[in-house]
Amino acid sequence: MAKAFDVIVIGGGPAGYVAAIRCAQLGMSTAVVDEFVYKDGEPALGGTCLNVGCIPSKALLDSSEQYYKIGHELEAHGIKAGNVELDVKAMIARKDRVVKDLTGGIAQLFKANKIEWLKGHGKLLSGKQVEVSPTDGKGKARTYQAENVIIATGSKPIEIDAAPLDGDKIVNSDDALEFTEVPKRLGIIGAGVIGLEMGSVWRRLGSKVILLEAQDTFLPPVDQRLAKLAQKDFERQGLDIRFGARVTNAKAGKTVSVHYEDKDGKQNIQVDKLIVCVGRRPNTGNLFAEDVELLLDERGLINVDEHCRTNLPGVYAIGDVVRGPMLAHKGSEEGVMVAELIAGKPGHVNYDTIPWVIYTHPEIAWVGKTEQQLKAAGVPFNSGTFNFAATGRARAMEETAGMVKVIAHKETDRILGVHIVGPQASELIAEAVVAMEFHGSSEDLARIIHAHPTLSEAVHEAALSVSRRAIHKAN
Ligand code: FAD
Ligand code: NAD
Repeated sequence: MAKAFDVIVIGGGPAGYVAAIRCAQLGMSTAVVDEFVYKDGEPALGGTCLNVGCIPSKALLDSSEQYYKIGHELEAHGIKAGNVELDVKAMIARKDRVVKDLTGGIAQLFKANKIEWLKGHGKLLSGKQVEVSPTDGKGKARTYQAENVIIATGSKPIEIDAAPLDGDKIVNSDDALEFTEVPKRLGIIGAGVIGLEMGSVWRRLGSKVILLEAQDTFLPPVDQRLAKLAQKDFERQGLDIRFGARVTNAKAGKTVSVHYEDKDGKQNIQVDKLIVCVGRRPNTGNLFAEDVELLLDERGLINVDEHCRTNLPGVYAIGDVVRGPMLAHKGSEEGVMVAELIAGKPGHVNYDTIPWVIYTHPEIAWVGKTEQQLKAAGVPFNSGTFNFAATGRARAMEETAGMVKVIAHKETDRILGVHIVGPQASELIAEAVVAMEFHGSSEDLARIIHAHPTLSEAVHEAALSVSRRAIHKAN
């Protein structure tokens, strides 16, 4: 007889492993099927996020920022560093250690919570059975019985015919984390989140970076006033962003020749490496047997309701493989919700208060609606802004670029969105999320005491500015 579990999770990324831990905490026997194999040949938990996504990219962003600061920004503090040497291999090795420590930590948590890790490819069969085949194709597949199945198989990079990957010169985001030397000229297709983050890493280390973006607008999901502010800063730093650029062909020889068309006609650039980062698509390949009638939507995402229930009773889907932003924390919260629902408890995710962060310099972070979205929906609002340059802490840090913008409903004053471009925006946004989660008003934020001197005073002043009473600016 097949071994049985209360819950089998397919996929051990931040959606799946968090769901599994919460299921185990709630007393359910739990297994996680995962097929990921790290570049050292070892199976690893943590999915895209820990192995080739959030964590390694942030490790390189931090390392490259330290390098850039020493070479370019410390003089203003009266520090001269002299000749600064770069060891890219050591930088990559540090990134690998950070990844291995964290993925090893998940394996430890599985042991502590008695979660069984089934290594291999998972496939949903009828009757909530899950078949697990060894990743290397050797050995026999085994079948397990589940009371409940949670699909958390995540996503993978979209590929485009115009720029076929070769794993060396034309690469996706996975391989862009592995360059062993700084490319002199780096081309990037797609000026979205990954393009900006990876472009920032390699530009800080010395690459000349050109981003080819198909759309005419920079970061359409971001409040456009702040997007423009960030764009200006990125361009000042040397990121060459070309809009309305449609790549027609990219070919790798000694260098990579990239042909594209824009409003001025046919163009060509020569680069040493080309990163393709034009979005991600859900992982549903060979995921369910033919007689399993799991519904997908028109974009190939697994169809779910607001509680992540699929059309099959007892089968849930969470994370990047379902609708909503492809963010680790969104998937994790869905995992907690589903575990609690399976355990018969109330479970819920507030999709209106999911924060976004882009880890460039300056960082970009936001929660809630943008001014464009509110205008389009005809919602009346007031907004207030405050520049970091007017705060004592940002000046002391030499980090004066950017601003905070708070948007509140015109009649009720309820906060509808908070947008930040600037130092530590990734941390500052948490206050806005809490305020919005508690249905706070701009008046609430304005009346909360913020320590002086801190960057959070910019959030405070922007909230005051909604009713034109910021202290350190002319309203
Ligand atoms: P994944 O993390 O993709 O995990 C799915 C797992 O399931 C994988 O291990 C996969 O191998 C496995 N799997 C798939 N199919 C099967 C199967 N049939 N059987 C067994 N196993 C299977 N998000 C943020 O919030 N913050 C960031 O800073 C951030 N930075 C990023 C940087 C980069 C370069 C990239 C690429 C992504 C980044 N993301 C970031 C997005 C984030 O990584 C994803 O949103 C997140 O990993 C999704 O989690 P998940 O658990 O749904 O899927
Ligand atoms: P993205 O959707 O953020 O950006 C892709 C960009 O490529 C868009 O601007 C799009 O207009 C452009 N594009 C699409 N097709 C193109 C083409 N043929 N030629 C030129 N441009 C083209 O996608 P991404 O940067 O690949 O990242 C994927 C997802 O991963 C993100 O949306 C996000 O959900 C997640 N992620 C999050 C973080 C973070 O939270 N900090 C970091 C990295 C990735």
